[in-house]
Amino acid sequence: MRTNPYLGLCVPSVASLSPYVPGKPVSELERELGIRDSVKLASNENPLGPSPLALQAIRGSQPDLARYPDGSAVALRRALSDRYGAPPEFFTVGNGSNDVLDMVARVFLGPGLEAVFSVHAFAVYPICTQAVGATARVAKAHDGTRGPRLGHDLEAMVDLVGDRTRVVFVANPNNPTGTMLGRDELEAFLERMPSQVIVVIDEAYFEYVTDPDYPDALQWLRRFPNLVVTRTFSKAYGLAALRVGFGVSHPQLAELLHRVRHPFNVNSLALAAAEAALGDSGHIAASLEVNRAGMAQLTEGLRALGLDPIPSVANFLLVDLGRPAAYIDAALLRRGCIARPVANYGLPRHLRVTIGLEHENERFLRSLAEVL
Ligand SMILES: *Cc1c(COP(=O)(O)O)cnc(C)c1O
Repeated sequence: MRTNPYLGLCVPSVASLSPYVPGKPVSELERELGIRDSVKLASNENPLGPSPLALQAIRGSQPDLARYPDGSAVALRRALSDRYGAPPEFFTVGNGSNDVLDMVARVFLGPGLEAVFSVHAFAVYPICTQAVGATARVAKAHDGTRGPRLGHDLEAMVDLVGDRTRVVFVANPNNPTGTMLGRDELEAFLERMPSQVIVVIDEAYFEYVTDPDYPDALQWLRRFPNLVVTRTFSKAYGLAALRVGFGVSHPQLAELLHRVRHPFNVNSLALAAAEAALGDSGHIAASLEVNRAGMAQLTEGLRALGLDPIPSVANFLLVDLGRPAAYIDAALLRRGCIARPVANYGLPRHLRVTIGLEHENERFLRSLAEVL
């Protein structure tokens, strides 16, 4: 292909931007290889799928597809308010929580301003920072001596906060490491952040975490008006395809996010499904049980192969393969197993694998054993 003639036309921040690389869809892999019944453990999706109540709500909203969705997400925000005990004005509904992260960047970042995040944190933080022409200040991660291996080093993050810092992204638990920050250390971090720095605590895996020291960041909203907590229906709620997530913050901060929110950013099916899913605690409990069992199965299986996965509180495991993961990944794909190489997270020897159903985990372990 010839050099892209538009490259010279776009703004410098976009010219050097690497796009997000999603996991390969099952249908695409199967078509390429001419195989069937492959397993996808690449994108931290819920292997049980959505709640039956969500599916029913989707069917119920089909007659209204010719109408624009409720652009203010009134019903979902009311349901979120009932569920989490903050008034509806605290909630910003997004097209996935990524949309909320992007709103934060567009409101608070721009050329000459900086965002701070950890080196092996969620891939969307660098993208939304760079997309608005701001500068990323990337903190080193723990080496495993003073905190969990590859997890957020809050001390290193504090050191990078300066006069130009406007946003700090904290993923708790973190993707791709599955590590978490405890209550006291995160609270102390919030206390140390200057009030002009917006702290985003990304709790995409909130529902999965059972560790008693895991803090629900919503408890800090009234104390810290610079805090935005984000959550999603893409993971434990099993609604990744619909793209719906939300932010919770002081209402004045929510009002700023609202200014840059695209009109009708969340579709009607997603709004209805999310509201219904929120009411199905049984489905979440069942999902957690599948995750607990699968986490034990995969952890044991990986250890039996001589590997040492990082202990995870989420629905995935990160494991160092001790050699470039790209080759292993390619060989796994040929065996119909889609996992997630994480070179784009600065970890070229690691593989991330989502906890699946028992037979999916089994299939992955068997294929990995063959490949290694
Ligand atoms: C998966 C994930 C999200 C969720 O993104 P959505 O846009 O809500 O699907 C957000 N943050 C982290 C850290 C994630 O891993």
